[in-house]
Amino acid sequence: MSLDKVKHIVLVLSGKGGVGKSSVTTQLALSLSLAGHSVGILDIDLTGPSIPRLFGIESSRVQQAPGGWVPVPVHSASPEAGIGALSCMSLGFLLRERGDAVVWRGPKKTAMVRQFLSDVLWGEIDYLLIDTPPGTSDEHISLAETLLKTAYPGQVAGAVVVTTPQAVATADVKKELNFCKKTGIYVIGVVENMSGFVCPNCSECTDIFSRGGGEAMAIEFEVGFLGRIPIDPQFVMLLEAGRTPVYPVGTVINGENFGPRESGD
Ligand code: ADP
Repeated sequence: MSLDKVKHIVLVLSGKGGVGKSSVTTQLALSLSLAGHSVGILDIDLTGPSIPRLFGIESSRVQQAPGGWVPVPVHSASPEAGIGALSCMSLGFLLRERGDAVVWRGPKKTAMVRQFLSDVLWGEIDYLLIDTPPGTSDEHISLAETLLKTAYPGQVAGAVVVTTPQAVATADVKKELNFCKKTGIYVIGVVENMSGFVCPNCSECTDIFSRGGGEAMAIEFEVGFLGRIPIDPQFVMLLEAGRTPVYPVGTVINGENFGPRESGD
């Protein structure tokens, strides 16, 4: 099993699409890697795999080794700088054309998720972050079944649930928390993304979509609240320019307002 040497597995979930689940996954991965941990990202959002685009490595291809797929490196470890290696695996790397749509029935998706869990050569890594599709679909069920059957005690650290303040008002994100409860997956906590907009001129934070819904929901479900991330126009600008924004370590965990840094700073 290719996950044998992975120390911690963290699932990143969201009730709806577009709330910033993949963005939070990449920022969490970068934060952990900048803190010196070795990290892998497994993108099982089969119908909308966006991790390769978020790292600006869509044209990379996965190498096939005798024992399985070799994940695509985002950067290698730099022990002198205290940075851990970061690599990722996504269906996006396997599609012939970037815009190719995946129209698969449940059994094919299930088979692909199982293959991703068993055939990727992660090696010894500290964290594997699994970016899942929005909602609770076939992919989630096969993921939970396979992981809970094969993981060793303590390996599945749990789930981080991403929401926006207004998405909390819908039932979708609560379904996500109920899914974790039913399958016995521990919820590490909730992240409230796009929580307010910090004016670049006066630094005042305007709560465009209201604020605090994620925290209230975390209290209601008795799970942790990890923090808020404001809407940051620079984040989108950097992504569009093919440069992944690297936020300071601990941003998501501490939930403070922050300014972006560019890769390589
Ligand atoms: P999901 O994975 O939930 O579908 P994405 O991570 O792909 O969502 O984000 C959707 C869009 O919102 C992307 O264009 C992304 O750049 C943007 N985005 C996400 N979080 C923020 C943020 N805090 N500030 C500004 N833009 C954001």
